Amino acid sequence: MPSNMTIDRPTFVSHLECSLTGERYPADVLSGLSRAGRPLLVRYDLAALGAAVTREAIMARPTDLWRWRELLPVRRTENIVSLGEIETPLLAIPKSAGSPNVLVKDEGRLPTGSFKARGLVMAVAMAKELGVTRIAMPTNGNAGAALAAYATRCGIETIVFCPDDTPEINVREIALQGARVYRVNGLIDDCGAIVGKGAAEGRWFDFSTLKEPYRIEGKKTMGLELAAQFGWKLPDAIFYPTGGGTGLIGMWKAFDELEKLGWIGSERPRMYAVQASGCAPIVRAFEAGEEHAERWEDAATVAAGIRVPKAVGDFLILRAVRESGGKALGVGDPAILQAVDDCARKDGLLLCPEGGATLAAYREALRTREVDEDERVVLFNCATGLKYPMPRADAAIDRFAPIDFDAL
Ligand SMILES: *Cc1c(COP(=O)(O)O)cnc(C)c1O
Repeated sequence: MPSNMTIDRPTFVSHLECSLTGERYPADVLSGLSRAGRPLLVRYDLAALGAAVTREAIMARPTDLWRWRELLPVRRTENIVSLGEIETPLLAIPKSAGSPNVLVKDEGRLPTGSFKARGLVMAVAMAKELGVTRIAMPTNGNAGAALAAYATRCGIETIVFCPDDTPEINVREIALQGARVYRVNGLIDDCGAIVGKGAAEGRWFDFSTLKEPYRIEGKKTMGLELAAQFGWKLPDAIFYPTGGGTGLIGMWKAFDELEKLGWIGSERPRMYAVQASGCAPIVRAFEAGEEHAERWEDAATVAAGIRVPKAVGDFLILRAVRESGGKALGVGDPAILQAVDDCARKDGLLLCPEGGATLAAYREALRTREVDEDERVVLFNCATGLKYPMPRADAAIDRFAPIDFDAL
């Protein structure tokens, strides 16, 4: 056995499971979707896990993502390609939210400036562990950037396809971090069709959202972190900007695992899936009482990260939202931009448009009495606001001319 095959730390993964049919699949082999064409979920031997580690032992470790290693799938430490996945802070924005009980989980501090790092650090480590050498992915920007960074770091080749109106900074960071990136005249699911075709021909491994099992495990750490940050009592409501829904599904899975471990109780936050009203397939399906969401035609919004017309995990998002007693909420672009503006000007925190969408949805929910001012609420800011266009600021001074100091 070559030395790199030694299993050097415990993992409690027992098997993979089809999220629709419950059919079991072996762990430790490369897997995409289930035979039913649905996402695979990673299952753990939680009894053994609970006997091996306590929540106090986890709390005594450094506060990064890897403190949760027993609840994560990577077996061999050498396969972890880290860029410094810190625990992200919870920040109050009392002036723009109108309540001191609203906290923003600021995911913009993660490597590559977005929470896509959580999913991709895990998926890339597992791809490395399972011998993948070439990966392709459709992206609206941030996922491609995180993939490029982590894959380049461990020598995996990447080919990335993005809609041709993807923010310029995303396309360039993907290219600079070592991927081959192509702009496609279509939306993210059109890019996904190209990736799927190449994968069917055996050209690469398909890293589309939820089409491999491990991104959810990385995103799950948002739920684990929240439990720890709130002292093992979850907040009353979570507002999550929902595209493919990986994070919402991942947090819901985290809460379930934590309850089975006896580390939290049975209370759950109400999960609010926030979408832009210009691309709101989950909102439409939620309101119609459907279990699956139809493709949203002519999707358009400033919040590029949630411009996802069709999600493979639609039924998992809808299930989690309904079980939690939450809702799927749509907000318009003007309300999104207003929220970004208010939070920056009044509370000094620069949100990304998707983060702005959660603040806009919270304000609307407050207005309609869907939430109360005294409830503890978490809004997700999923990327640094610095990656997005900002209003111009053109005021200038001629240092050779007289300066009117009273007017400054
Ligand atoms: C990807 C992304 C989202 C949506 O996340 P999902 O978990 O795929 O629904 C939201 N905001 C930003 C900034 C993103 O990059």
